Amino acid sequence: MVFRKSKGKEATVDPGKGIIQSQGVVKVYDTGSAKLTALRGIDFAVRKGEMVAVMGPSGCGKTTLLNCLSGLDDVDEGTIWLEGEDLATMGDKRRTSYRAKRMGFIFQVFNLLPVLSAVENVELPLLVDNVKPSVARQKALTALETVGLRDWAGHRPAELSGGQRQRVTIARSLVNDPAIVWADEPTGALDSKSAADIMNLLRTLNAERSLTIVLVTHDPGVGGQCHRIVRMQDGAIVGEEVPANGIAAHPDHYVAAGNGGQAVATAQA
Ligand code: ADP
Ligand code: MG
Repeated sequence: MVFRKSKGKEATVDPGKGIIQSQGVVKVYDTGSAKLTALRGIDFAVRKGEMVAVMGPSGCGKTTLLNCLSGLDDVDEGTIWLEGEDLATMGDKRRTSYRAKRMGFIFQVFNLLPVLSAVENVELPLLVDNVKPSVARQKALTALETVGLRDWAGHRPAELSGGQRQRVTIARSLVNDPAIVWADEPTGALDSKSAADIMNLLRTLNAERSLTIVLVTHDPGVGGQCHRIVRMQDGAIVGEEVPANGIAAHPDHYVAAGNGGQAVATAQA
């Protein structure tokens, strides 16, 4: 299906085929003295309900990929569709509200406000989105319940362990019942026991809610628990695989055409 023309080239991505899709995404950082191409034409697709790990050496562009695909950062070329909608046509206001309503974010650094309690941190995105405070509070408590921290609702981040803090950020990412959660090294700052707990939680959320999760990780053990691992190198996707011991291949597993011609189809469940 020819969906949209970009840069004189026919885009052949069908936005119906993936909750996240990109074609030809290029990102250049201009630091004044130098230009650095962080993404060199990314063709990528994620099915609804997939849990995908993005792996690759430090500096290869993983964080940039997440920031660009989620619309946190602008791209220089290419097209991104989220739930079939072209990010570029959204406009700032719509993009911000789409982000608040449909996406959640989890980062390695927990990004919790130290002066707020767990429940106040979790309800904050809702309050910013003008949700009634009593409703926001109820939703935040439910989200904390989901991550097993209902009893810690009144505690500030400093009173929580690293694993608990990351669970608060997961609760915050879930509070709007998003379609997509983006996680940048969610276990990177955790000991192995806490990391395993966080992965169990993410896998459960993925399985029970068909939550689409894209996570960046350095840890092969984390990547190995996903439906699919996408490998990046030097700003490009250079391959992908279904981990041997991961979740069984996603039934709708979808491999985008392109990927520098190196996409590997591994759709057998
Ligand atoms: P990764 O997450 O894989 O470690 P990043 O996406 O953070 O990689 O970075 C990709 C490349 O872009 C790196 O060379 C990095 O130095 C550069 N980069 C990242 N963010 C910026 C920025 N804000 N300004 C300039 N260069 C950046
Ligand atoms: Mg990074």
